[in-house]
Amino acid sequence: MIPIAAPVIDEATINAVANVLRSGMLTQGAKVEEFETAFAAYIGTRYAIATTNGTSALHIALLAAGIGPGDEVITTPFSFAASANCILFCGARPVFADIDEPTLNISPNLIRNRITPKTKAILPVHLYGQPCDMKEIIKICGDSNLILIEDACQAHGAEYGGKKAGSFGIGCFSFYPTKNMTTGEGGMVTTDNEAVAQKARTLRNHGQSEKYIHQSLGYNYRLTDIAAAIGIQQLGKLDESNSRRISNAAFLTESISHIPGILPPTIAAGRKHVFHQYTVRVTNSFGLSRDEVQHKLGAKGVGTAIHYPRPIHQQPFYRQLGYNDRLPVVEKAASEVLSLPVHPRVTPADLQTIVQALGELSG
Ligand SMILES: *Cc1c(COP(=O)(O)O)cnc(C)c1O
Repeated sequence: MIPIAAPVIDEATINAVANVLRSGMLTQGAKVEEFETAFAAYIGTRYAIATTNGTSALHIALLAAGIGPGDEVITTPFSFAASANCILFCGARPVFADIDEPTLNISPNLIRNRITPKTKAILPVHLYGQPCDMKEIIKICGDSNLILIEDACQAHGAEYGGKKAGSFGIGCFSFYPTKNMTTGEGGMVTTDNEAVAQKARTLRNHGQSEKYIHQSLGYNYRLTDIAAAIGIQQLGKLDESNSRRISNAAFLTESISHIPGILPPTIAAGRKHVFHQYTVRVTNSFGLSRDEVQHKLGAKGVGTAIHYPRPIHQQPFYRQLGYNDRLPVVEKAASEVLSLPVHPRVTPADLQTIVQALGELSG
């Protein structure tokens, strides 16, 4: 089976981890600092604060931005649940704006319709590794005095107008094993704002300004030096591994775009899309349903995934909270999307297998 995701871990990484283990300094020490410095330099922000995972990065980013009870944060319904859940963690209310075709990213025009006096921030998600329409979103933030928090958990190294995702507002990254770079579990907050950086650092470590002096309620969201050592190695190879994703994606698009009923992903103007996922849409005219295609590709040895089968506003938990929005674009997309393997370990032979398998299904 060609897996839908597979991390690349080399000998240098294994040695780096062994060295941390031998050093006896296992958590939030010199390696975490080195990783933060390197990551901030790569993204192009003054500060980077490492955390336990992407979810905790989002959580402390929102808290450091001052989001709390009574506030509304506008986000996309087409993401992993963490994007909206972190808003609830703060006692605030996620408000969903439908997405645009063909990028499937949050629609700036629909964000405008959802602004109320309670709106405090916009939380766009750079879905599948393609940056959102940042020019429009930044304009909305400026016009309505809103904070920008970017969920860049799928967009390590992605760019909009030559500037990296996660450097426009407060950036949040995940280093889960399926992402473009990994630390096993891990996350990062990026920002140019010194006060936000300071607050995020404090929140990450039980609100301590110095040892055993607690200035606020905080959490244990510390990253280990073991994970940071992996992250430093992964960051060093990120551009190379993103290039592989990009060339794999280009090959797939060229090879499948003639198949009726299959819509390959598109790259909007001014974007560097880093293809965290290569996600096609299986439309009605293909002849088989998306779920049938997934099943049959699996039988031919091609691993696939659905990102995401159910929009966040339609999740049982959100229904219980009273959400009953009708968001037609996302609801249709959720029934059509199918992600194909695109990661750096997909070989040219694997690409041929994927293209041939899809071609056979189309008759
Ligand atoms: C992976 C992911 C997260 C959560 O990151 P974790 O490290 O799993 O906590 C949040 N948002 C998006 C869009 C993601 O893809």
